[in-house]
Amino acid sequence: KADQERFGFQAEVTQLLNLMANSLYSNKEIFLRELISNASDAIDRLRFERFSQQRAEENAEKPWIRVGYDKDAKTIIVADNGIGMSRDEVVKNIGTIAKSGTKEFLKGLSGDERADANLIGEFGVGFYSAFVVAERVVLTTRRAGLPAEEAVRWESDGAGEFTLGPAERAEPGTTIVLHLREGEDDLLNGFRLRSIVQRYSDHIGVPILMPSDDGEGESAVNEASALWRRPKSELTEKDYHDYYRHITGDFSEPLIHLHAKVEGRYDYTLLLFVPSHAPYDLWAREFRRKVRLHVQRVFIMEDDGQLLPDYLRFVTGIIDSSDLPLNVSREILQSSLAVEHIRASAAKKVLKLLKDLADKEPEKYAVFWKEFGTVLKEGVAEDYSNREEITELLRFTSTHSSTENADVSFRDYIGRMKEGQDKIYYLLAPSFAAATASPHLEAFREKGVEVLLLSEAVDNWVVGGLVQEIDGHRLQSVAQGAPPDFGDSEDEDGKKAIEEATEAHADLTAKLKELLDGKAWDVRVTNRLTTSPACIIAAEPDTDFNLVQRLRGTGLP
Ligand code: ADP
Ligand code: MG
Repeated sequence: KADQERFGFQAEVTQLLNLMANSLYSNKEIFLRELISNASDAIDRLRFERFSQQRAEENAEKPWIRVGYDKDAKTIIVADNGIGMSRDEVVKNIGTIAKSGTKEFLKGLSGDERADANLIGEFGVGFYSAFVVAERVVLTTRRAGLPAEEAVRWESDGAGEFTLGPAERAEPGTTIVLHLREGEDDLLNGFRLRSIVQRYSDHIGVPILMPSDDGEGESAVNEASALWRRPKSELTEKDYHDYYRHITGDFSEPLIHLHAKVEGRYDYTLLLFVPSHAPYDLWAREFRRKVRLHVQRVFIMEDDGQLLPDYLRFVTGIIDSSDLPLNVSREILQSSLAVEHIRASAAKKVLKLLKDLADKEPEKYAVFWKEFGTVLKEGVAEDYSNREEITELLRFTSTHSSTENADVSFRDYIGRMKEGQDKIYYLLAPSFAAATASPHLEAFREKGVEVLLLSEAVDNWVVGGLVQEIDGHRLQSVAQGAPPDFGDSEDEDGKKAIEEATEAHADLTAKLKELLDGKAWDVRVTNRLTTSPACIIAAEPDTDFNLVQRLRGTGLP
């Protein structure tokens, strides 16, 4: 047709569509979940737009999502009365992958079905899952606020191109028609579709309407209320997991969740999740925190650092405040007392949740620590008000177990301290292997004194942040300051031995000092070593040698 315009998919989309057909086939029903999830997002966004423009009363039609099918035409239809899309928005949102990191994402696809399904969901490319079951997809959409004649029709067979043309749609919103592939007729069945919707989309806060089987009337298939506002006693683990999947796209179960209604000076509801694995982009500069802020159930925005501190950026979920204005802006958020209060109290709640997990389910906590421990460690330097709570959550590798699993807490360490030992000893090193091979450990090994082995870059800031005593014990680097003094009788003998050795080797140390003039402060005889001849020690007030190396970007030999 003359008014149709052809477009090519972005190369990445074509690549993705090919990969997806294979990766998702055994999970093909999830196309419905993805389309419903988009419909629900579109409704959230429309509500928010109306609220923020204070047009709440205007066109106040109740939101709905409709799922239907046509046996003869072999189609499934998913429609919503959400925000819709303008022509430009269709081109931008459907046909390209707008998100950054697409290339890395595609590289990450492994051909392993489970792993890939995870990635696809997380990356937010759900719309394309329609092509797993459909040979042709027709999307008609009208942006709220634009006239009926400006509706758009998008059509594609998912093979590299799509067409765009004008359309009419009586109301704003989006309708998606899937022309099913040969062999997908089993989906043309009311009972089957209803059960898929119930299984994957029960938590959606908007009614999902389906025609009744006799063709007379229609009814909602889902519960259709904001999940977090429902009493805990009504909710099952599965409800929480489904909801988690809805907001994250992560197929795996969350490690743990926190659902609480907080009342006091400010009232708010929290539904937060800790994922069971780190998202692929956790360390990306533009990593997007996924805590959604709602005000009186209306979705307002995704947190960009106001709702939870950075070191808890792995937490995802919903915070629903009753105290903020609906037309809240980023600027208001930044200066809002309610937000400040929520932020402080939510962080405390998350730390408490983690503490309980560590106490009651150490295996799960070990998973948490492996995935997110490095991020949490930033909190030692970042969050002074919760330093004690964070300190209790830290886990390290140590000479006690000598495995690379970081499973030693300060409490464990202190419980194993030797008679007369009053300091917590640690060694900073560029890697675990370098730490275990370090000559600095020799004397400690001989005495049976445990040393924490800190080999992550962030550990430098951790020990820098832990200035106060932990249960009355100061942290002490084994590579800094005076030789260890364990306060036992052997030490008395040891001291004498050092004095004697110092005298005996006075010529040697003087010669070395001369050779190292301007490079070393001092050369001393020490009891730090048992088999190695010499080691480098930083003076106490100086920066640890390992950190100096890190800052120079050289790393230790
Ligand atoms: P995601 O939902 O993670 O953004 P999708 O591939 O599922 O990724 O959808 C891509 C984009 O297409 C959405 O972000 C949205 O802008 C647009 N979109 C999809 N479905 C709809 C819809 N029913 N109404 C309005 N916009 C939609
Ligand atoms: Mg989506």
